[in-house]
Order: sequence, then structure tokens, then C-alpha cells
Amino acid sequence: MNIGQTLYDELIGFFGVGGIIKIVQTGNYGYLTTLEGIQTLMGPIIPLLLLLEIVRAFFYKRFKIDEYKIPFLVFVLNRFISRFISIAAVAFCIGLLERWAIFTTTFTWYWLIYGYIVWELSHFVYHFLGHKVRILWCLHSTHHAPQQMNLSVNFAHFFLEAPYADVVRTSICILLGVHPALLFFIMFIDGFWGSFIHIGENVIKDGRLGFLNRILLTPSHHRVHHAKNPLYMDTNFCNLLNIWDRIFKTYQDERRDIKIEYGITREMNPNSLWDVYFGEFICLGRDIAAAPGLKTKLLYIVMPPGWSHTGDHKTARIARESFITSENSIKKDEIPEFVNHI
Ligand SMILES: [Zn+2]
Ligand SMILES: [Zn+2]
Repeated sequence: MNIGQTLYDELIGFFGVGGIIKIVQTGNYGYLTTLEGIQTLMGPIIPLLLLLEIVRAFFYKRFKIDEYKIPFLVFVLNRFISRFISIAAVAFCIGLLERWAIFTTTFTWYWLIYGYIVWELSHFVYHFLGHKVRILWCLHSTHHAPQQMNLSVNFAHFFLEAPYADVVRTSICILLGVHPALLFFIMFIDGFWGSFIHIGENVIKDGRLGFLNRILLTPSHHRVHHAKNPLYMDTNFCNLLNIWDRIFKTYQDERRDIKIEYGITREMNPNSLWDVYFGEFICLGRDIAAAPGLKTKLLYIVMPPGWSHTGDHKTARIARESFITSENSIKKDEIPEFVNHI
């Protein structure tokens, strides 16, 4: 094997510039006016932004290797195992479920809007379950382990998470009539935006993006999602449009008075690949081993993280609700004083 060639191929693949190089080599610039051509042009944007993020951090002497090391190692690990399982999972679901679709759609702008709303619903279902079912949290927690936000967090995923997410999302979309061509197009937009919302604070400090914060899910919303502050935990599950967060009451704005603390709440070593990748599985294994009876053991697998058979639950919902209650009671205490002044 030619190591130089392999490294070159990996770099070209990572930066997504293979398509552009081909266009330059063949001189077929007309291709850029097609839908695939536009996708080819968008491919390198996120990797180049990541490079810009790292260069800026170097320039301002804020670059810390630890902030990028683990997501990068997870990326390398996943690079070899995850991608192919995921593509196969999507193809399998389409082949299996297309005949059961409630109706069929076509590749038009109005079906694109319908398809995107359905896609966001399917994403909400996968992501919500990833936070509320303990065994699925074991898969998803790798993505939440980094204690800072930057584009490399995109690569921090447990290798089985992508196939699981794709099975849930593809199944729901296909059953609700989203045409496969439409689905692939939506997946592309979603992949791009889903990566962009991880942009670091050293590139875009205020992630609200102005008025866009009211109509789209912005980097600010996703930073809130990655926070372990009690008010922010388990909120903003959507990806581009936060309609389902608003409907299911999981929407949360970034508050200027509550600074985001990234990461997960358990004691962990964020610089250990082993802990980031398998830490939650080990905790679950310990809880199952200590639980009395088969039913309780099984409950640990499906109940939310923090659930305890002793009744001493420490779930995100309880932490958030008690934060809101205590904040409201502080506000109430302030009211009589205000009334007295009148
Ligand atoms: Zn999440
Ligand atoms: Zn994320």
C-alpha cells in the first residue's frame, strides 16, 4: 500500500474537495449549475471552517490540543466502521418500507417543505430518545462529552449512533411518504446545517445570528443543547427548524445571565477516549449489576439517565424543573417588596 497516496486520499476525502478537483481537471464547469454541482461546492465549507477555527485559535494563542484531540480520534475510529453500516441501513429501510408509505410525494418545492417538517419530526424522535432512554444515551453521550464547542465536535459520535439514527429517521420519513430523492436532498441540507451549528465561539461569538434566532435553530440553540446547566439540559432537540421543540415544549433560548457549561453531568475524564466512548456503558453496567431482580435490571436499560430503583431520581427533567421552581420562588419573594413600594 502506498502510504503517501492513502494519506492524500484521506485528506481529499476529509476536506470534500474531490468533486471540485475533478471539475477543474475535466473543465466541466457547467456541472456547477446542477443540484449535484452545488452540493459539490458546499462539501468543503464545514471542513474549511474547522480549519479556520483552528488557525484562528492558533493566531490568538488559544489553541488547546485537548479540545480537538478526542473528537478527532473518535472520527478516525468511526471513519472505518460507521459510514458503510449507515449507508446500508438507509438503503435497507427504503427497500423494506417504501411499499407501506401512506402516500407518495415527488421532488417539488411544496413536498420539500412537507418532507422537511417530517424529517425534523423524525430527527426529534431519534434525538429525544437518545436523551431519554438510557441504552440510547450510551450511544449518544459520546457527542455530548466534549467540554467546549467547536466544529470537531461533529466527529464525536459512537460508531453505532449513525446507523441507529438513520434507521429511525429513514423509517419515519419513508412511511410518511417522503420520496427517497427528496429524503437524500434533505439529508444533505441537514448534514450541512447540523455541522454548522457546532461552530466555535472563537469564530462566531454570538451564535444567535440576529433575527434568524427567531425562525431557525441557530448555533446558539445547539450550544444550549450541549450545556449541562440545569435549565439547558435536554432542550432544543431539532436541527434546522425548531417547530417540534416548540410543540413538545423542549424549546430553550440561550439566556445572557446563564453562561453555558459544556459537557455531561457525571464525573468523567474528557481527555480519555475510553471514558468518552464507553464510560456510559460502564455506568449502566454497574447500575444493572447492583439492581435487585430482573425487572429492575431491565428498567435501567430503558428508563431515562438518572432514574433510580430507590426512587432517588436524578434525571435532567427533575434538575430543570427544580431550577425553574426555585427561580420562580425567588421572583415571587421579590414581588411583595415591589408591592410595598407602591
Ligand atoms: Zn443530544
Ligand atoms: Zn451536537
